[in-house]
Amino acid sequence: MNKLSIRDLELKGQRVFVRVDFNVPTSGGKVGDDTRVRETLPTLRLAAERGARLVLASHLGRPKGKVDPKYSLAPVAARLQELLGGKTVAFAADCIGPEAEAKSKALRDGEVLLLENVRYHPEEEANDAEFSRKLAALCDGLFVCDAFGSAHRAHASVVGITKFVRQAAAGLLMEKELAYLGKAISHPDRPFVSVLGGAKVSDKIEVVQNLMKLADAMLIGGAMAYTFLKSQGLPIGTSLVENDKLDLARDLLAEAERRKFRLLLPVDHVLAGSIDSTVTRTTDIAQTPEGWMGLDIGPKTIEQFSREISAARTIVWNGPLGMFEKPAFAQGTLAIARAVAAASGKGATSIVGGGDSVAAVEQSGLACQISHISTGGGASLEFLAGEKLPGVEALTNRS
Ligand code: AMP
Repeated sequence: MNKLSIRDLELKGQRVFVRVDFNVPTSGGKVGDDTRVRETLPTLRLAAERGARLVLASHLGRPKGKVDPKYSLAPVAARLQELLGGKTVAFAADCIGPEAEAKSKALRDGEVLLLENVRYHPEEEANDAEFSRKLAALCDGLFVCDAFGSAHRAHASVVGITKFVRQAAAGLLMEKELAYLGKAISHPDRPFVSVLGGAKVSDKIEVVQNLMKLADAMLIGGAMAYTFLKSQGLPIGTSLVENDKLDLARDLLAEAERRKFRLLLPVDHVLAGSIDSTVTRTTDIAQTPEGWMGLDIGPKTIEQFSREISAARTIVWNGPLGMFEKPAFAQGTLAIARAVAAASGKGATSIVGGGDSVAAVEQSGLACQISHISTGGGASLEFLAGEKLPGVEALTNRS
């Protein structure tokens, strides 16, 4: 892969358009979890130290092509200013047009301008050429993409803009994400154990298929496990299931068997009468009582999964193993977080992606023990599914 790095660019005195992923939760003019903003700081600091004039662009939420104050990046500008140690971060209330042009031209070396949400314009998601050209006009022919979390989107500020600049390069966060995930799928230290959870099989079919070829084992928990279990004729009570995916789940399990691939499903679980009930019971899957819903993996499964994780040299984890937002059903996910952290402590490379599993790792206080926490949920899933990310392709092999 032939890609420029921000380190290769002559930045001094140049306006550089940096696509970041500042898609963070905001409310009442304040930023909630600012992880994504903090993760871009190395790129922004490097560029500022080298005398770049930084024009930053991002999306936030889904304003559906219209101005919607709920999705304004203004609170992020304030937060970024704090994170940059008080360095002024200018803000333009539209990502194109006279204000953005004037403010980008007024930048001096090392200064930062954040543009308003690119998704206020429908042309962003349409990857419109004219809109891309207008964005590119805000810089001096230099584009840096540090938005790994948006790299699976062929949008104007991620892909279209690259046609209108002289040089397009990856930022440091983008490089770090690609290095960790790339090594895992190309030459992982083995055993390579993948852990998948979350709500739906349908979101992760391609990931299951691809990782079955690459990993040494796969541990499946969360609601998605029930479609696999039901496809084997096991009782699942009222647990979440995708009945239209039963054939597919059966085929995937048959494929795993044919390949002699270690695909482990839960053997026991924690159940409740409904998601709002805290009256729980724990049974083997085969003993699932009628009218009860599986909401977390049980102690035998935790033990079995933890043993696999403990022997791993590479671990990729995406998706919680139960409804971890409720303390009564968080134990499985937290135990897996501890197992992954412990394996990392013994030298394994651990990669956690997907908003919910990242939140669980942070909640457990173990985030600092994980080798790499991916900022891109959807992008990391597509990468693990073996798909090419348009935002990365746009930086690769440019003539
Ligand atoms: P995803 O976005 O696919 O990673 O799914 C995450 C969601 O799946 C979280 O909100 C979890 O609460 C939910 N989830 C995980 N396990 C279960 C389960 N056994 N039953 C219901 N929801 C679950």
